[in-house]
Amino acid sequence: MTKEKNPLSDHKRRKAQTMMVHGGMERSQHGETSEAIFFNSGFVYPTSAAAEARFKGEEPGHIYSRFSNPTVEMFQQRAALLEGAEAARGTATGMAAVTTAVMGQVRAGDHVVAARALFGGCRFVVEDYLPRWGVESTLVDGRDPENFARAMRPNTKVVFVETPTNPTLELVDLKAVAEIAHANGALLVVDNVFATPIWQKPLELGADLVTYSATKHIDGQGRAMGGVILGSKALIEADIHTIIRQTGPSMSPFNAWVLLKGLETLSIRVKAMTENAAKVADFLADHPKVESLSYPHHKSHPQYALAKRQMGAGSTLAAFTVKGGKEAAFRMADGLSVIAISNNLGDAKSIISHPATTTHQRFSDEAKLEMDITPGLMRLSVGLEDADDLIADLAFGLEQV
Ligand SMILES: *Cc1c(COP(=O)(O)O)cnc(C)c1O
Repeated sequence: MTKEKNPLSDHKRRKAQTMMVHGGMERSQHGETSEAIFFNSGFVYPTSAAAEARFKGEEPGHIYSRFSNPTVEMFQQRAALLEGAEAARGTATGMAAVTTAVMGQVRAGDHVVAARALFGGCRFVVEDYLPRWGVESTLVDGRDPENFARAMRPNTKVVFVETPTNPTLELVDLKAVAEIAHANGALLVVDNVFATPIWQKPLELGADLVTYSATKHIDGQGRAMGGVILGSKALIEADIHTIIRQTGPSMSPFNAWVLLKGLETLSIRVKAMTENAAKVADFLADHPKVESLSYPHHKSHPQYALAKRQMGAGSTLAAFTVKGGKEAAFRMADGLSVIAISNNLGDAKSIISHPATTTHQRFSDEAKLEMDITPGLMRLSVGLEDADDLIADLAFGLEQV
């Protein structure tokens, strides 16, 4: 037996893919191969004094699954290793992650600046809920960092962005916006769903908190809802932990287990889906019935240089405009056979949606135009099918226009 300690026994010294298979693993006394599902709400204490100590925070250990749970903890640790974050907290959904991350940092009288091109639910939180609770918000065109600088006020506590944005895949320069936020004493919160943790690391670029809808690529197989918030120990273990513990947007242990298994294959799936997406983007870019394409690593993207600098690859999603508006877009989508009409994304199954009439329906025509959500716009989430079939499917759909 060797007496030397294997350096790889420190999880942080392992490569990303190894961490995603083993990170956070905590085996029970049974020595199970796969992670166990601790599908229980409460925990018992050996003595009353032990219960008292645990509630006082003087002894480690779980108390109640709204606060913490062993399976949820394994998911959190693995997600934190992948992101390069000190700590993480799982939530019931992606919206719970965004709401908790933003609300946890503000109180009445504060101000939030956000990019106006946001996932529908996120924009609702910023535009409708925050003002109800006395927190003002300003929405800006996120493509130019100067717009954030102009919107900052002395009481600005949070800058919130998504990049690439949903549904048009516009980009926000994270490094520049982080500097602007910090110069004003505000935190930068980044919803990193579209980029995935494989292609973009907001914490390295200066973000303070990163959120994901784990429902998307982390599950990636249409089974479970979930979310995760990542950042420094100080932010996560104080503010974020307390708001989750006291208000209850907690992750289910079963969903944590599904998502933990999802992390094992995340990088392999995202890489294969991105390869497909790049091929599909090349096809769409040259098609005569396509008016415009938005794919971050395609040369036609207006922020191509930033995309190359900030993202390791062009994401698994693309947006494109069909010539002929809504009627043409509907004809194209209704002609598809492999690609499903749905509003989820990041799934093994390719999915297409018409944002103007679904996810972004509630916005006025004016607000839609401001976000470049035109009647012909389609958002495509590219899955794990054979790229040739996806291209043939889209070619057939476009022929119906
Ligand atoms: C889906 C999504 C959310 C919300 O996540 P849910 O798990 O559906 O609650 C938030 N932000 C972005 C960018 C998303 O795509």
